[in-house]
Amino acid sequence: MGVFNLGPKIYMGPGTLVAVLNGLKRFFIVTDEFMRASKKVRYITEAVDEVGGDSLIFSGVKPDPDTHIIAAGVKEAASFRPDCIVAFGGGSVIDVAKAIRFFGKERIGDCFLAIIPTTSGTGSEVSNYSVITDAEKMVKYPLTSDLLLPDAAILDASLVMSVPPSVTADTGIDVLTHAVEAFVSKGHTDFSDAMAEKAIKLVCGNLHTVYLKPDDYDARQAMHNASCMAGVAFSNAGLGLNHAMAHALGAVFHIPHGRANGILLPYVMMFNAGCTTKLTPAAERYAQIASFLDLDTSALRPAALSVIRSIRSLIGKINIPTSIGAAGIGRDEFEAKLGRLADAAMEDACRASNPTDSKR
Ligand code: NAD
Repeated sequence: MGVFNLGPKIYMGPGTLVAVLNGLKRFFIVTDEFMRASKKVRYITEAVDEVGGDSLIFSGVKPDPDTHIIAAGVKEAASFRPDCIVAFGGGSVIDVAKAIRFFGKERIGDCFLAIIPTTSGTGSEVSNYSVITDAEKMVKYPLTSDLLLPDAAILDASLVMSVPPSVTADTGIDVLTHAVEAFVSKGHTDFSDAMAEKAIKLVCGNLHTVYLKPDDYDARQAMHNASCMAGVAFSNAGLGLNHAMAHALGAVFHIPHGRANGILLPYVMMFNAGCTTKLTPAAERYAQIASFLDLDTSALRPAALSVIRSIRSLIGKINIPTSIGAAGIGRDEFEAKLGRLADAAMEDACRASNPTDSKR
């Protein structure tokens, strides 16, 4: 049986937040300290006032959120008894809100879940994933269940205008990794391909622009849409080895998630395509990307290589490090943790849909 899940309703345009929240009364707002201290969270509290509701702000989310943060959030939400959980932030915030509703269901009760992403990266606003770290084991787990799907996603590109260039680069390359992994995944379909293809084109046409010109609203909007479309694509098609290894790097070295993906992407593509050995069926999928990006399609190997080169060039232009060493991890430190990294990556659920056998 095949199923394509379009995910939550996606709302866009002025006035949508109030329309989505209208009729609900008690809002548990999940965010991080930056969004609270910079008063950006007023975007939500003012809408709550407009619909005559009460709210409680939980701003305890940190990057690579762990199980302790989820437990603290469930405790606060259970005593507040919300009828709506609102996530306002990047992927870390969104994943915490999804996990609070999922794990706290018995104590909190049924809740509407509205997501407002403030980075253009994870697509978590429409995905059936929540990535949570076990701090003791130093493992990041990509939890997957349709019960994690939010009820509403609100896309407002004005919220991402303040994202600084380095986070714009990290999150933007995360979008590209989602779309490329979904496109070549074992689980891809015509439906996920459509979303992944559009997302790849939007990232290739706009990421460098938003990195150089953070105030370019149209380019920001394109990246915000791409992030969401890539989220629908990977939520249905699955991801791959790139994400399996990026989760391990995030849990052990706290390299920001998108940056970890960007460091790995050209190498994983070379491996998956069999560029240095015998070409694999994944090379044909990369060649299809070359075709819709108008790159070299003269033959299979140059086509696959042209996509990898083009992505490597984009990564260079937005100053993503090209190796784990360049990301600040010393060789000794890396080698001391290599066994743990490899075990975590091999056990990561994302590896299952990688197009090429990663045990070669
Ligand atoms: P993030 O949420 O950790 O945010 C990065 C930084 O950007 C934070 O310091 C945050 O305060 C800041 N920030 C957020 N919005 C801002 C704004 N508008 N202006 C200025 N600064 C802002 O980073 P992320 O890349 O969005 O999310 C990464 C997390 O998401 C990782 O844990 C990753 O594993 C997870 N993830 C989840 C999914 C999923 O489907 N659930 C998919 C991919 C990644």
